[in-house]
Amino acid sequence: MELDSIECVSSSDGIDEEEIHQHHFSSKPHTNIFSSVISPATSVHELLECPVCTNSMYPPIHQCHNGHTLCSTCKTRVHNRCPTCRQELGDIRCLALEKVAESLELPCKYCSLGCPENFPYYSKLKHEAQCNFRPYNCPYAGSECSVVGDIPFLVSHLRDYHKVDMHTGCTFNHRYVKSNPREVENATWMLTVFNCFGQYFCLHFEAFQLGVAPVYMAFLRFMGDENDSRNYSYSLEVGANDRKLTWEGTPRSIRDSHRKVRDSHDGLIIQRNMALFFSGGDRKELKLRVTGRIWKEQQNSDAGVCIPNLCS
Ligand SMILES: [Zn+2]
Ligand SMILES: [Zn+2]
Ligand SMILES: [Zn+2]
Ligand SMILES: [Zn+2]
Repeated sequence: MELDSIECVSSSDGIDEEEIHQHHFSSKPHTNIFSSVISPATSVHELLECPVCTNSMYPPIHQCHNGHTLCSTCKTRVHNRCPTCRQELGDIRCLALEKVAESLELPCKYCSLGCPENFPYYSKLKHEAQCNFRPYNCPYAGSECSVVGDIPFLVSHLRDYHKVDMHTGCTFNHRYVKSNPREVENATWMLTVFNCFGQYFCLHFEAFQLGVAPVYMAFLRFMGDENDSRNYSYSLEVGANDRKLTWEGTPRSIRDSHRKVRDSHDGLIIQRNMALFFSGGDRKELKLRVTGRIWKEQQNSDAGVCIPNLCS
């Protein structure tokens, strides 16, 4: 690997850090620090690339006695040896590069996904955690799936990889059957994807332990951002023997993890006794018929208003 171009300017050029510091606060634009010592082909962004992991370096930026820089994550991994010159690394900060890093505006890391924004280093990190263009996590529950992507990608991933049932239309009628309803360990969880209004929705059904009692829960998540999820509503209904439970709500965005939605009880919750009652028969088998509907809300003025008990 050609690493020479990534040397920290301060000591590779024999100038100590204090001097660089003063230059930085002089009236000259700080990029001038580099113009005399680094070929124009080397951009400041390249200087800020960690030679080990190639990620952008954020303060604290470290350097060895010979001026080779590396990021703080890599520093903890290299056992006090400079990866470039193999000399002892010590504990030297590269303040000059840190100052440059803090002053630079960089494109959001999701620019290739459509985000047009630029930010200084620190606001960039904050923005990226919330960027509307950031990829979504796979909404599949019940396994640690680390796949991320945009909605069309995740829809094919759910269908092809997780073998999830896909339905078209805004009404549904599902039967959930489980042979041993007493068992909540290894929770029953099922996911069905609905395609309607040009959007995708995930219907989750699962069993979990609520306090000491096992319960069943069904809820819908919207495959898209929270703002857009507010344009839709859904209802769920389960029942038998002239009793029924109904739920009406707004689908949560898949930005909220499946677990977060479940733990906030934002859906149709069926106590086990009720579930067994709805199942009829000898209580040896769980047989629930869940029907539901998704509809589009009229655009109204309070669309942006936070629902009090769901905002934390
Ligand atoms: Zn690194
Ligand atoms: Zn070195
Ligand atoms: Zn962004
Ligand atoms: Zn997945």
